Amino acid sequence: MKPIIDMHNHSNLSKCCHDETATAATFIDKAAEVGIQVLGISNHCWDNRMEGASPWYKPQDVDWVLKIRDEIPADKKGVKLFIGIESEYRGMCDKIGISAENAVKFDYVLIPHSHTHMVGYVIPFDPSYKEALGVVERKLRAAFPEVSDRQIERWLENARQPDVKLYVTQGPDIKFLSDFLCESFVGLLNNGELAKFKDKVPVFVAHPFIACGYTAAEADEAVSMIPDEKFIEMFSLMAEKGIGYDLSVGNFVRNDKTEREQQFRLLKLARQCGVKFTFGTDAHSVAGLGSAWKSAQIFKSGGMTLDDLHPMYRDFVTLD
Ligand SMILES: [Zn+2]
Ligand SMILES: [Zn+2]
Repeated sequence: MKPIIDMHNHSNLSKCCHDETATAATFIDKAAEVGIQVLGISNHCWDNRMEGASPWYKPQDVDWVLKIRDEIPADKKGVKLFIGIESEYRGMCDKIGISAENAVKFDYVLIPHSHTHMVGYVIPFDPSYKEALGVVERKLRAAFPEVSDRQIERWLENARQPDVKLYVTQGPDIKFLSDFLCESFVGLLNNGELAKFKDKVPVFVAHPFIACGYTAAEADEAVSMIPDEKFIEMFSLMAEKGIGYDLSVGNFVRNDKTEREQQFRLLKLARQCGVKFTFGTDAHSVAGLGSAWKSAQIFKSGGMTLDDLHPMYRDFVTLD
């Protein structure tokens, strides 16, 4: 089953990778074992030339992620290797996490617009959150009359939007999420810093329209609210700017091989518009590369041809 491609994954240089053995060398071993033809390693990165790093991003700067180059073994076991990054786009304030000067130090750059689990950093708090917070505050004061105002404030400061909303209401505001996904996608494509490097290094939107921090059903509901015409408009802009699409294989195909209809709908529309693609497991461990076979299923079910693959790696891919 081919093509098996994984251009999106995280070694132990990413703070969220909890597999200490995940290095370039062990990734190459695993890639060779599971038949990956093209492997790209894309650690999380916020370039310290760009303002606005969160405390989590701060240590993961360009010099840190470039250390991966020292780990590459001489024998790559027939696997074609690229070194990239997954940077960040803060749609709520149009800030991107990689400068044009540093983007070109990598073979390619993935940029997500949908890290919506980073509430208050990537996506704003939704309007009903304040209301929900007020309900929680009243309940806390009633339940803990002896606790100081300052302490109550601290509890509220530490409260996360999804938790508070779920506690008070039936669930998150999916229309708000859906609108944000469209705005942040277009905002990223039109970002001024991105314009400076997009023709010098291949750029892909990481897992487009897959809302992180939400259930698969909520994420699909958000996508289902966006009509075909709107996607065609957005994907035409993507194709015109030469920005690629990172197909997040685990979000398209479940482990039992069943497929998420809404994601395939996006694939179909993006293909129509002439967008070029890559595939990624978004693995955070060596074992995670084991799901790379899903790229072959997406290729087949999506009716894709070699021409749909991004030219940066297309020549290294062979079909059966
Ligand atoms: Zn991501
Ligand atoms: Zn990732």
